[in-house]
Amino acid sequence: MANIILLGPPGAGKGTQARKLVDERGMVQLSTGDMLREAKTSGTEMGKKVAEVMDRGELVTDEIVIGLIEEKLSSGQGNGFIFDGFPRTLPQADALGRLLAKIGQKLDAVIEMRVDDEVLVHRISGRFTCGKCGEVYHDATKPTKVAGTCDVCGSTDLRRRADDNEESLRTRLMEYYKKTSPLIGYYYHAGDLFGVDGLAEIDDVAASVAAILDQQV
Ligand code: AMP
Repeated sequence: MANIILLGPPGAGKGTQARKLVDERGMVQLSTGDMLREAKTSGTEMGKKVAEVMDRGELVTDEIVIGLIEEKLSSGQGNGFIFDGFPRTLPQADALGRLLAKIGQKLDAVIEMRVDDEVLVHRISGRFTCGKCGEVYHDATKPTKVAGTCDVCGSTDLRRRADDNEESLRTRLMEYYKKTSPLIGYYYHAGDLFGVDGLAEIDDVAASVAAILDQQV
């Protein structure tokens, strides 16, 4: 059992790899982006508060996301946690260390998914997902077999994210470089950092991730 962080800019493939680890290893994916989107659609006070910030591509406050993670960590676990899109700032990284220690656990690996900016713009501008099962598609590289229908679960609830447009993406990338990329140095010095080539094919990235995980257990 291992607890890992998938670190990388928007579009690096964190969600895709996390889903594979959930399916293949029974790990638990903790995506603060998914949690916040859920809060947005369920119309909670917190959801209303974060909606505009998220749509612009800016980061929501540390306090909110740390609270979300704390809640999930205390409510059980499967075969290790995959932190996807969290932490995104140094205070969040510090908080994660404290929260894991509180439940008698530690972080085993931080996997940095390395990609080029041009690829990110292409990946994100064509991205859509199934609202029911979460499968991720792309207009050019991975369309659905039948237009408008999810290949995996047959749902017709296919969605595009409000922040998957060029302007928000530019902001999201700047937020990543300014606030999240310092975590690379932070975890390197902690001895937890591993890099994978996020430009490789999905299954090849998965094999690299699996090799890192297998060294941890
Ligand atoms: P994601 O699905 O990870 O790309 O996240 C979508 C959006 O949710 C981000 O652009 C932020 O507005 C917000 N968000 C998700 N995770 C965090 C986090 N750890 N810290 C701050 N904001 C976050």
